[in-house]
Amino acid sequence: MRVLVFGVDGLAFRIIKPMMQAGYLPHFQALAQEGVEACLESNYPPLTPPAWMSLVTGLKPAQHGVYDFWEYNEQGTGRLMTQRKGGKAIWKLLSEYGKRVIVVNVPLTYPPEPINGIMVSGIQGSSERGNCTYPTSFREELFAHVPRYRIDVDVTSVVHGSYTPAQAAVQLIEQRIALMRYLLSEKVWDFAFITFCAADYLQHLCWEDIIALQPDLMRYYQLLDEALGFARSTLGSDGSLFVVSDHGFQGAATKFAINEYLLRQRWMHPFEQGQYYRSLTHAWGKHLLDRVGLLEQGRKLKLRAVHKRGQSLTKVQPYLTRQHLQTAGMGVASWSSSSGGFADISITRSLSAQLMADLRGSLLALRDPLTGQQLIASVYGTEVFGQGPFQPSDQHLLLLPSEGYTFTPAIGQPWLWNRERHVFGTHQKDGVLYACGPTIKRGQQIAPTAIYDLVPTILRIMHLPQPDELDGQVIDDLFIDAVKNEEDHSSSTLVAQKLKQLTLRA
Ligand SMILES: [Zn+2]
Repeated sequence: MRVLVFGVDGLAFRIIKPMMQAGYLPHFQALAQEGVEACLESNYPPLTPPAWMSLVTGLKPAQHGVYDFWEYNEQGTGRLMTQRKGGKAIWKLLSEYGKRVIVVNVPLTYPPEPINGIMVSGIQGSSERGNCTYPTSFREELFAHVPRYRIDVDVTSVVHGSYTPAQAAVQLIEQRIALMRYLLSEKVWDFAFITFCAADYLQHLCWEDIIALQPDLMRYYQLLDEALGFARSTLGSDGSLFVVSDHGFQGAATKFAINEYLLRQRWMHPFEQGQYYRSLTHAWGKHLLDRVGLLEQGRKLKLRAVHKRGQSLTKVQPYLTRQHLQTAGMGVASWSSSSGGFADISITRSLSAQLMADLRGSLLALRDPLTGQQLIASVYGTEVFGQGPFQPSDQHLLLLPSEGYTFTPAIGQPWLWNRERHVFGTHQKDGVLYACGPTIKRGQQIAPTAIYDLVPTILRIMHLPQPDELDGQVIDDLFIDAVKNEEDHSSSTLVAQKLKQLTLRA
């Protein structure tokens, strides 16, 4: 049985339900009536890189090694772009079973890995100007069929004013759909994973207009809906379809300065703040240059200048470095927390269990002085990241905020609560799951499930054994006949065990 995963970065029910009611998304509407709907929870944290990696591997971060967009370099003094370090993605597992797979635009799939099929890599490190396909030879075929194909939104044109964000997103999705149509129609495949990423970008920038169903922005979601319709019709009634998002979204208007709070309450020791501010200014400059596409040019000029002077490059340190954190004892290192809608506090191993409990208690007691609303909806400890070779070496408290709030790691400002004039979009844990297929229930809502449950569920549908290391579980409630599937499952496990015993004996 063929399986198609239709991934949409940052899709949330609070966004698509009003659009469905207004008639913008007929194919989503049909899917809700003919398949299963569930909240796909993404808690650890609800951020694009770790969430997609959990979705595609069935593993928690301690096994796949991705926690953020970035990670410390070996010296702990700077940052590097993150890559997956452990685990196998579903397309690799399926390739090993001889299934023919197609993978398009899943974040953090650069460089593209060898599979039994075709991969076009997605955002984070990948560029359509570089080696973005497996096999390498497919690149030529890609541009022959979709000459204006892009991997990410054309932010440079948005900054220069030649496109609105909505136009840039529409241009991106039109090319992606063209590639999807070509691959799904012209190639032989058993499994396809196609991902659309501009929803996340639009929802950060244009939250209020999206919620107001502003027509320019609706165009993007309508194209997404058309793509879904095409995917369903190509798959046919004997295939299984999953629509998934890596995390949800919410509107927020208030940021809480978590590091400033920790400093003022003396949980965090002061460190040399001048260095932090200098690194922050560098980081912003770098971020802006990157967004307008000038970073690469700047880097070349700088390299040339450095080469002339015979000096070494100074490292840009946009976040709290490991040295900062060691001095401070704890803190939120990452600016991803602000748009990601979470705060991941790193805490020295030496902090006692009692003090950890006190800290947790004082964080849970935080209330907005204007509204009395509790700031933090849930707190998780280090164990939330799972167990594996990439477990964090320090202790962690992962905070998820209540509706309407997010965090900022900024320090040194007079305020703890920063209230913006406009509501902006931030990530939230409740992503989207729709599933339909011959063995799947029709027109039902089921209990929330987790992002790492997708992989074991796909393996079940394709009658393949479950690897022992998976953190996720089969979403049994999805199936019409859970008991029958259970039998299928145990028989496939039995076959797998027998195969394993045979291999061991051999
Ligand atoms: Zn995302």
